[in-house]
Amino acid sequence: MEMAKYNDLEQKAFHLIMSTGRKGMLQSELWRELGASSREGSRIAIKLENRGLIRRERELSNGRWTYRLYPKRLPASIDSIIDCPCLLCPDSSRCSPSGPVSPQTCEKLTAWLLSLVEKEHAELGDS
Ligand code: SF4
Repeated sequence: MEMAKYNDLEQKAFHLIMSTGRKGMLQSELWRELGASSREGSRIAIKLENRGLIRRERELSNGRWTYRLYPKRLPASIDSIIDCPCLLCPDSSRCSPSGPVSPQTCEKLTAWLLSLVEKEHAELGDS
């Protein structure tokens, strides 16, 4: 029961942080939204960070050091798929996983997916 409640909080925390996008949110805002204690809040934030889901950055707020929490992976937006080669592909009607034209072997799609991953790393400041 304890555990279920805890996982639930963790999931809610993650959704909240994801929804802030590039702005991120202060750790104190997070636990207020969750109705959790500051101790619980920072424990959850550390756990999410250890799992690679969020990143924490120290920030001075009202004269106190705290953390701002950012999602590591942003939800896919329309912007990110608008240039998918499949949208304008002349072969799309024949393209299927078991067909002669297939996403598994398509070089256009592979190149595009790779460029997305690179772009995402650049935007998030990963090296
Ligand atoms: S996977 Fe390749 S061939 Fe298939 S629809 Fe997309 S771009 Fe066209």
